[in-house]
Amino acid sequence: AKSARGGSFRFFDVSDHALARERRALQHDLGNALHRGEFRLVYQPILALSDNRIVGFEALLRWQHPTRGSVPPTAFIPVAESTGLIRSIGEWVIEEACRTAAAWPQPSRISVNVSAVQFREPAIAAQIMAAIAASGLAPERFEIEVTETVLLSDDETALEILRTLSAGGIRVALDDFGTGYSSLSYLRKLPLHRIKIDRSFVQDLKTDLQSAAIVKSVIGLATDLGIDTTAEGVETAEQLGFLRAHACGEAQGYLIGRPVDAAEAMAILRRQPKR
Ligand code: C2E
Ligand code: CA
Ligand code: CA
Ligand code: CA
Repeated sequence: AKSARGGSFRFFDVSDHALARERRALQHDLGNALHRGEFRLVYQPILALSDNRIVGFEALLRWQHPTRGSVPPTAFIPVAESTGLIRSIGEWVIEEACRTAAAWPQPSRISVNVSAVQFREPAIAAQIMAAIAASGLAPERFEIEVTETVLLSDDETALEILRTLSAGGIRVALDDFGTGYSSLSYLRKLPLHRIKIDRSFVQDLKTDLQSAAIVKSVIGLATDLGIDTTAEGVETAEQLGFLRAHACGEAQGYLIGRPVDAAEAMAILRRQPKR
């Protein structure tokens, strides 16, 4: 019995080992990535449906690993969160995004993702406001994107931070709406300026009547509450048409544009007709 069970046990043991080693390697490299300058931001354009203008960009983090190549954020952000590294990385993201947006030729918005881990420390509010002030950006042009997980921790810290930021003129967007434990009570409780309708609903618009119903009602509800809407993951003209027909505020996705570097974001803004 020992050999058979031991055999399979050993097998899992070895792969567990390999996984743990892999994770440690990633953690180690992630710890060096910031001072080695391996991070950069790319910027995905966001289109206002009312006047067909690019009104802003979402900053998305990229890690260029020296040997692994480009590591997707979905692979390294969870590691950065569990090790606490997300705090220093996130600080760099905020500062870099502010610097980029402050140089834009038109008063466009910059949207920045902030992780739930960063929201456990009240100091984040002052840090964000200091970065904005240092860059010379108007606070109204800075939007943070938070997911519902930020609010799952039942203490008041996150809410307090959001209130402070909002009072300072900073916009707050609820990201990936519909994927988490979406509770309508958040919409009342939070100082919220925008809901970002998750890509999964947008992508099923054509085939799934329920997705269409959800998108329609989220837009309607948000509008009634005075909250703006952005649909994520718009890939087809058909999806865009649906969103337009149902008075969604903004659209983001490959149809509008893929994430681009800072120079290209600047070029996109320069090509826009003056208001
Ligand atoms: P997210 O905040 O939902 O960002 C949108 C993701 O959807 C991005 O993936 C973007 O490239 C992708 N996307 C945009 N349009 C389309 C489309 O039309 N079709 C499809 N299939 N995908 C589209 P990305 O850049 O890989 O980022 C993944 C996630 O990583 C983000 O999801 C966000 O949660 C997280 N993330 C990225 N940058 C940061 C950051 O600076 N800080 C933190 N805390 N999280 C970040
Ligand atoms: Ca986001
Ligand atoms: Ca999202
Ligand atoms: Ca997402």
